[in-house]
Amino acid sequence: DQLPADPVEENSIRQVHKACFSRVLPKQVSKPLCIAHSREVAAQLGIGESLVKSQEFAEVFSGNSILPGMDPFAMCYGGHQFGNWAGQLGDGRAINLGQVVDVNGQHQMLQLKGAGPTPYSRFADGLAVLRSSLREFLCSEAMHHLGVPTTRALSLVLTGDGVTRDMFYDGNAQIEPGAVVCRVAPSFLRLGSFQIFASRGDIETLKTLADYCLRHDFPELGPPSKEAYAALFAEVCLRTAKLMVHWMRVGFVHGVMNTDNLSLLGLTIDYGPYGWLEDYDPNWTPNTTDAQGKRYRFGNQPQIAQWNLAQFAGALLPLVDDDPDQLQPGLQLYVETFDQQWTQMMCDKLGLGTSQGDEDQQLFGDLFECLMLAETDMTIFYRRLAEVPCQEPVARVVDLLRDAYYTPDQISDEVVEKTQRWYQRYCQRVQQTGFSDSERRQRMNQVNPLYVLRNYLAQQAIDRSAEGDHSAVMELLEVLRNPYQFQEGKDKFAGKRPEWARHRPGCSMLSCSS
Ligand code: AMP
Ligand code: MG
Ligand code: MG
Repeated sequence: DQLPADPVEENSIRQVHKACFSRVLPKQVSKPLCIAHSREVAAQLGIGESLVKSQEFAEVFSGNSILPGMDPFAMCYGGHQFGNWAGQLGDGRAINLGQVVDVNGQHQMLQLKGAGPTPYSRFADGLAVLRSSLREFLCSEAMHHLGVPTTRALSLVLTGDGVTRDMFYDGNAQIEPGAVVCRVAPSFLRLGSFQIFASRGDIETLKTLADYCLRHDFPELGPPSKEAYAALFAEVCLRTAKLMVHWMRVGFVHGVMNTDNLSLLGLTIDYGPYGWLEDYDPNWTPNTTDAQGKRYRFGNQPQIAQWNLAQFAGALLPLVDDDPDQLQPGLQLYVETFDQQWTQMMCDKLGLGTSQGDEDQQLFGDLFECLMLAETDMTIFYRRLAEVPCQEPVARVVDLLRDAYYTPDQISDEVVEKTQRWYQRYCQRVQQTGFSDSERRQRMNQVNPLYVLRNYLAQQAIDRSAEGDHSAVMELLEVLRNPYQFQEGKDKFAGKRPEWARHRPGCSMLSCSS
């Protein structure tokens, strides 16, 4: 199509055919103020700290000023939402400013989230509020410091404008502060970016996108061919398997694992009603919209990723002569990689070295049973377990793990018995490794975080920010920059969720309203 004379006018909401993206301009905001930034991402992009503090930075990363060379656009994608094909979905409020080369020579896309409507905005305004933007900003960076593949966040900018939201869908709309996050990743392509063209039978655009993707993001897979498309699929499966193992390791629950929210690069993407597992409960989902079916519950994430990859395979079929045998190995690779790496991850969490096979599976299964029987904080449990010496009389074990229980004074005899029995077998297994207590502790503490972005911690930062005190965001980010290392005076960030936070909105369950 011809370039529109006035791109802003072309933000008009519509179905966009035969195009991977649409040129759009961000909406002007009234009073941009940068309230938080990631110094690592800024440095990676070659943006000095003094520039970050300048008004020009806030103008650019709110979308107010477009620098020479920027040619903003929104991407076209569709997706399966909660298992059903939902058609064209995005990007409804994400506008790419353009691509830069970082200090490592790697290309990075700069993307504003909440910068105004695009042709893909459907029924919504293209904006984002402080509460959800702050959560996206902090969690992106927290995940990175935990060693989990993720899109990054450069900045969190208040727009100075109000945004109307009905958080509880009860007809009581409120005006909330608007905000824009600048996200950074080599690519924001999603599984749904491919699905949209396959669903429309637009094989030509599907192939254009796949070829671009091979050239731009996976040059090592070679020039376009059936084999290269199959290899691309397998690579996405491999990365997704590794990502799922990481989520299960740190207790992250994405909450909206629709196919449009799974990255082609195997990055965690689209931080919405996500949550961190506090008491170990594989059936927990943070998303109120998911409360009934619990499709996106913690324990279901690996299966859902596999289901999403199968939908992605369906979209790629036309590129491999409609021969499913070309893509089957990718799905197989997903299963094998997940199984093998999940087992090794559990061994690492327990300080057991290399997995010894079936016997270890039994040990894990019995552990999960113990964790579920009493309300047990997953994060604290593994850090406490690392401190318990193997020579300790088993009678003392539950006492030594006391900090991890939400109701330590109501531990049943069954829990005590099962935990003691489990611990006895665990110690026997530890002995096979030959690791000393301190070596085991050191190994465990490298993979079991001490500080995670607990739901209520994020909410406290939001509450303070909404009152005008933005220091809490940077204070929390500072702690989350070193999640595995004990930090003097930071105990309040490592503790259990307080009782008041158990049922408070934002601290336990979250809506998609953002
Ligand atoms: P999500 O479930 O958050 O992944 O959102 C699905 C799609 O809805 C994405 O393409 C978003 O860009 C879009 N979307 C979410 N919120 C808004 C909004 N306030 N305005 C426009 N589009 C939105
Ligand atoms: Mg999304
Ligand atoms: Mg529970």
